[in-house]
Amino acid sequence: MSNIGSYDERLEGFDWNIARDVLDLRDDELLNIGHMASDRICKRGMGGKTALIWEGFGDAKKQYTFDELRVLSNGFAKKLQDAGVKPGDRVCVFMDKIPALYISFLGILKMGGVAQPLFSAFGDDSLEVRLKSAGTKAVLTTQKHVKKVRKIRQNLPELEHVIVVEGKPEKLKDGEVFFDVEKESPVQEFECFVSDEDTPSVLHYTSGTTGQPKGAQHAHGSVLGQALTASWVLDLQDEDIYWCTADPGWVTGTSYGIIGPWVLGVTQCVLDQGFTSARWYKFIQDNAITVWYSAPTAIRSLMRDGTKLVKQYDMAALRHLCSVGEPLNAEAVVWSEEAFGKPFLDTFWQTETGSMMITNYPGMKVKPGSMGKPFPGITAAVLDLKTNEPLTEPGQVGLIAFRPGWPSMFREYRNQHDVYASKFVGAAADAKPEDLRNDQDLWYVSGDRASIDQDGYYWFVGRDDDVINTGGHLVGPFEIESALIEHEAIAEAAVVGKPDEVNMEVVKAFVTLNEGFVFDDMLELGVMNFIRKSLSPLAMPQEIEVMEKLPKTRSGKILRRYLKALEWGEDVGDLSTLEDD
Ligand code: AMP
Repeated sequence: MSNIGSYDERLEGFDWNIARDVLDLRDDELLNIGHMASDRICKRGMGGKTALIWEGFGDAKKQYTFDELRVLSNGFAKKLQDAGVKPGDRVCVFMDKIPALYISFLGILKMGGVAQPLFSAFGDDSLEVRLKSAGTKAVLTTQKHVKKVRKIRQNLPELEHVIVVEGKPEKLKDGEVFFDVEKESPVQEFECFVSDEDTPSVLHYTSGTTGQPKGAQHAHGSVLGQALTASWVLDLQDEDIYWCTADPGWVTGTSYGIIGPWVLGVTQCVLDQGFTSARWYKFIQDNAITVWYSAPTAIRSLMRDGTKLVKQYDMAALRHLCSVGEPLNAEAVVWSEEAFGKPFLDTFWQTETGSMMITNYPGMKVKPGSMGKPFPGITAAVLDLKTNEPLTEPGQVGLIAFRPGWPSMFREYRNQHDVYASKFVGAAADAKPEDLRNDQDLWYVSGDRASIDQDGYYWFVGRDDDVINTGGHLVGPFEIESALIEHEAIAEAAVVGKPDEVNMEVVKAFVTLNEGFVFDDMLELGVMNFIRKSLSPLAMPQEIEVMEKLPKTRSGKILRRYLKALEWGEDVGDLSTLEDD
């Protein structure tokens, strides 16, 4: 039976305790995500059910039951405990989407550690910044990626353990430990750390306009929001075969690519291969996938290959499609109806919110191009850009804001309390994170702009800051600019998003050169590769424009906004603060 009830029905008398009912979770049960996603499912008689269907490169295939997930995650938990990793220590998971990523994530949570998943394509600079900020105690990685850790290890005094979970033990260097959980003796019993709603669970790094990435700290209580939205919006049910295409280096890949489905005991699929439309369709066909959670960039890439290709595969099992990460354009919704016989439903949320906030609730009328309405239990508004008061007229554009206090809300930005406080309109600078998080007089501001129509539907307008959204992933201009000026040829740099048909935005860099350098194809390629390697492929500028000088304010600050307006063909605004105007 579907979980779908009408939006209005669900709003009536809503209380977050409904999440406990959906999970059938008693108050005296352990609220530990690692336990709830494996041990608890087995205790409920579903140990033999398939938890993970995995496919990797070269047609590698593996499957795991919930009982295997339980025992193998126990193995990771015990290994970390024996190594001296303590509850609250940050443990980074730095690997491709291999089974060990998913299993070790649960193991870390079981022993009370804080899981810090990082995208495996990160280069050593991106990695170093995030490991340093987190004071990471242990890194779990693979032979393929350990080289990047080696390169920066001497700069990370707090990093005590480097554990290689896949590869050849003989290739390890001093100070590294090999641990292939599947080759170890099974750990049948492990006593999970007794966590509660506020115990730190997952640390996700996200990019802002200024400064280095911020570590959004989540807590085990997030599971209530993740489970309820997975049930009501993704409509996950016992018999579903579910596929979330996101990498757990980003929040969608953990909230809905690990936690939500598994605490509900749902079978999920993971494809660890590069994207082609045909490969994705075959994966859906071969596994008879029923529920699919993806992103607009992927959908637009599928659209490019046309509906004819879709028809070559049997997609009959698909019954429910959702999308997140960037604006889902109306054409993509209409196309998905044509291609799959059903629309992709848009959902809006962020790293900081931990779970879906504004959604096209199943059973609700879809207005193609709209993000839908606030999830029950979420009080949302758009605030006037100047006064920060909620706007009341339909169609007015303002800042998307939420009343704090939903279960999956992030608990702090690690070591950046003032930045955390700055996200709440009206907050005292010295307020404690726990006060901010529960103060119903405050608004948490998302950093995005939208309007609300006469029926209460939200329409995304754009970011309120300079953060670039490329293919659904946020990249911070500051981090790229800092890396660019490390290149010998580059004197100054400003980075903005440039419109792109498929990825919505791509990175464009404006630079000035150091004396003696000539900007030719070789140098351009060299700079692009430099960023790809030190940061990530997503951060790599797709275009580099050399300028005589960069536009600056009289106080010497580079006017990124001016360059962005030029790039988007928009009004460049007030230039009175420009140098030499
Ligand atoms: P992240 O924190 O990396 O998950 O990125 C969150 C940001 O992605 C949001 O603040 C938005 O800018 C953007 N985003 C996420 N979902 C949507 C959506 N459905 N429509 C438009 N933008 C979105």
